[in-house]
Amino acid sequence: MKRTHRKRRSFWIDMTFSIAIITLTVAAIYLISQASKKDTASSGGAAPTPITIDTIDSNYPGIKIIIETSNDPFSPFAIQYPQSKHSHFNDEISTYIKKAKQDYLVKMNDKKQKDNAKTGELNISFETLQFNSSHYSFVLLTNRYSGGENGSTEIRSFHLNPETGEVISIEDLFNHDLTNLEQIAPLVRDILYMDPALNGMLSSEDVERYTEPKWENYQNFALTDESLIFYFAENTVAADTAGPPIITIPLQEGNEWLADEFKLLDTTTDQVEMDDPVDNIDGNKENDPIPDNTDRQPVHNQDDSETDGTDIDHTDETDNVTDADTSTETVVKKVALTFDDGPDPKVTMQILDTLKKYDAKATFFMLGSRVEYYPEIAKHVADAGHELGNHTWTHPDLTKAGLDKIDKEIERTSSIIEEVTGIKSTSFRPPYGAVNSTVRSQTDLPVVLWDVDTLDWKHRNAEQLLVNVQNSVKDGSIILMHDIHQATADGLDAVLTYLQSEGFTFVTVSELD
Ligand code: ZN
Repeated sequence: MKRTHRKRRSFWIDMTFSIAIITLTVAAIYLISQASKKDTASSGGAAPTPITIDTIDSNYPGIKIIIETSNDPFSPFAIQYPQSKHSHFNDEISTYIKKAKQDYLVKMNDKKQKDNAKTGELNISFETLQFNSSHYSFVLLTNRYSGGENGSTEIRSFHLNPETGEVISIEDLFNHDLTNLEQIAPLVRDILYMDPALNGMLSSEDVERYTEPKWENYQNFALTDESLIFYFAENTVAADTAGPPIITIPLQEGNEWLADEFKLLDTTTDQVEMDDPVDNIDGNKENDPIPDNTDRQPVHNQDDSETDGTDIDHTDETDNVTDADTSTETVVKKVALTFDDGPDPKVTMQILDTLKKYDAKATFFMLGSRVEYYPEIAKHVADAGHELGNHTWTHPDLTKAGLDKIDKEIERTSSIIEEVTGIKSTSFRPPYGAVNSTVRSQTDLPVVLWDVDTLDWKHRNAEQLLVNVQNSVKDGSIILMHDIHQATADGLDAVLTYLQSEGFTFVTVSELD
């Protein structure tokens, strides 16, 4: 019995001790956590920065899009990049993104200590280009402003076979044979020199140096079913005001130097399409040949010049404009504002705000590929009552494309615009204004060009936007702008103030006729 008593007493003593220890431990943990909370709050000062990370599906099988956004008032960023099921590829991209973000935040943090430091900007977006459905090129575009004089633009390409996870390099593309690259280099130089956007911005010494057939000069490239694209860094082959030059080589021109798996299977068909004689037979003004090699990188803004078509189409547009003049007997002058190559999450939204302020309706010629990436932005444009136009899927020069390609570019874009916004596109604007009867025969949509070219893609200057409009706007004008350049969004308010003061009303392209 005694033993039992003793046992029971020691049991209660143990129990009391255990409870005491547990209580003390919990109390201690609580106190420590409270203390450290206070610590971060007092040392951090402001509330923690709201950073959101979302993952959405892309329309490319096996590819997801990661979207990271920071609304920090001083160093905000908006970053998008692809992720796959292949960890090697994911790591490569993540490392690049992490470094870009860190460089920017460190720089901004340094600036923060100084007086009147300006708000920074870091935007990383990307395009997906596809070759043969077995190869994706992801082209990341980084725009950074970290408080200095100028912002910077960087293009970096990543590659992936979505099935196997295989990642090709420039060496793979040219079969690890430098003599193949030696054949491509002169072609690249020719295209650079013929690019009207780079006119006067090239130094032969730099061109020679940065296009020299060395693998490291050609690291950033993309491959599509039609072309091979090279991206050069800002301030290398061309002056930095030109942005990063982009060179597009039709695949059949580089075909013989590519490794077998990247060769076109049947180049003869493509050749026939390229030499489509319709241009010469048809007497229409729009059929004047577009200068060669203007078929630059689709989708991407830097080289997105509609200018190549301006001279050709000017006559055409003027005809339309004259018609509009005579049929309009009221004193009210009309002008149609048009925005190409969007939608863009930042620039398009800012443009919508400005248009709303003036109760102005405009026409947005959208790229199907961008509608796919930014469906909610396209929806905003439609919901605000603007007109939607078709500007193809990948921004090719359609006068150089075969019927099948033309058809696909237009159809696919019309479909996604309607699918996403519930509204049909009402007009078609061919990239670069490049159009002939073959292109026209592939769509029922009216082809709409322009007569006032703001050259916004080239000067990227908010004040110059107004000057270019003032120089050539008249009753019935169609003004060409691009809703992918920040300067265009920034300069739009002044343009609208001016046009309104001159008695113009803002109409969509359909309302002009
Ligand atoms: Zn365009």
